[in-house]
Amino acid sequence: AAKEAGRNTWQYYSQDALLRIQRRLEIEHALLGAIEREEFSLAYQPLLHAAHDQPPAIEALLRWHRPGIGYCSPAEFIPIAEKCGEIVRIGDWVLAEACRQAAAWDRAGLQFDRIAVNVSAVQLRDRGFAERVIDTCHAHGWPPQRLELELTESALIRDTDVLRHCFDVLERHGVPLAVDDFGTGFSNLHYLNRFPVGRLKIDRSFVQGMLHDTGTAEVTQAIVHLGHALGMKVVAEGVETEQEEAMLRRQGCDEIQGYLYSRPLTPRDLAHWLRQGGAQGQLSLAGAAMDA
Ligand code: C2E
Ligand code: MG
Ligand code: MG
Ligand code: MG
Repeated sequence: AAKEAGRNTWQYYSQDALLRIQRRLEIEHALLGAIEREEFSLAYQPLLHAAHDQPPAIEALLRWHRPGIGYCSPAEFIPIAEKCGEIVRIGDWVLAEACRQAAAWDRAGLQFDRIAVNVSAVQLRDRGFAERVIDTCHAHGWPPQRLELELTESALIRDTDVLRHCFDVLERHGVPLAVDDFGTGFSNLHYLNRFPVGRLKIDRSFVQGMLHDTGTAEVTQAIVHLGHALGMKVVAEGVETEQEEAMLRRQGCDEIQGYLYSRPLTPRDLAHWLRQGGAQGQLSLAGAAMDA
C-alpha cells in the first residue's frame, strides 16, 4: 500500500510539474513577437507625496493582453521573459513607451514629478543598457533626471564591472534609482552604499502586516529610519487603508502608493485623475481600474 501511495504521489507531482513546464513553454513561445503584435501596454499608478504638497510620481506597470486568451500577469510572465532573455527587448519597449507617454503628458501640461519604470536584473547585466536608457530619453525628449528605475535587491547584490559601468553612466546623467520590494531580498545592505540609490520602496507585505503585528510595524519604522539616515527617500507600496496610511505618515514615510489612492490606470484615466486633482488625495476611479 505504501508503494502504491508513493507511486500516486509521484504521479501527482510529475503531472503538476509537466503542466507547469507546458505553461512555461507556451508563454515563452507567445512572448516572442508579442511586441510586434502590439499585445503589450502600460498601466500607470500614482505615488503620492505624504504631505500632498508636491505633484505625484507615476509608476509604469506592464500589461499583456493575449488575443483570444486574455490577461497574463507580469508576476507570471516576467520571470519567464527573464529566463529566455526576451526581457531585454520587452524592457526596451517599456522604457521607450514610458518616456513617450511621459513627454506627451508633460507637453499637455499635466503636473507630475517623475515616471518610474521597473527594470529586471537581466536587463541591467545586458551590456549597453545604460546607454540605451539615455538614448531613449533623448529620442523622446524626456529628461533622464525624471526617469526613475526601480530595481530589486537581487539585481544589486553582485558587484560586477558591467553593473558598475551601468550605474556610472546612469549617475552621470542623473537617472534616479529606487530599490523595489525593499526588505524581501537579501540582508546584506552593502549595496546601499556602493550604488547611487535614492529611494527605498517598502514591500507591500510589510504594509499589509503592520496593523496586525507590532514586529512588522517596527520593521517599516526601521526602514524609514535607515533610508533617512542614508539620505534617501522612503516609499510605501500596497497601501490600501487609511489606517495604514496614517501609521506610515506618522513613521515619516515620504511617499505613499496603493489602491487607497488609485489602482493602476489606463493612460487616459491617469491623465484624467491628474487633472481632477488626484494630487490632493482625491481617489476613486473604481470603474476605470486597469489591474487586468
Ligand atoms: P512592483 O513593481 O512591486 O509593483 C507593484 C504591484 O503591486 C503591481 O502589480 C501593482 O498593480 C500592485 N499594487 C499596487 N498597489 C497595490 C495595493 O494597494 N494592493 C495590492 N494588493 N496590490 C497593489 P503588477 O502590476 O501585477 O506587477 C507585479 C510585478 O511585476 C511588479 O511589482 C514588478 O516587479 C513586475 N513588473 C511589472 N511591470 C514590469 C516591467 O515593465 N518590467 C519589469 N522588469 N517588471 C515589471
Ligand atoms: Mg515597482
Ligand atoms: Mg514594488
Ligand atoms: Mg512589491
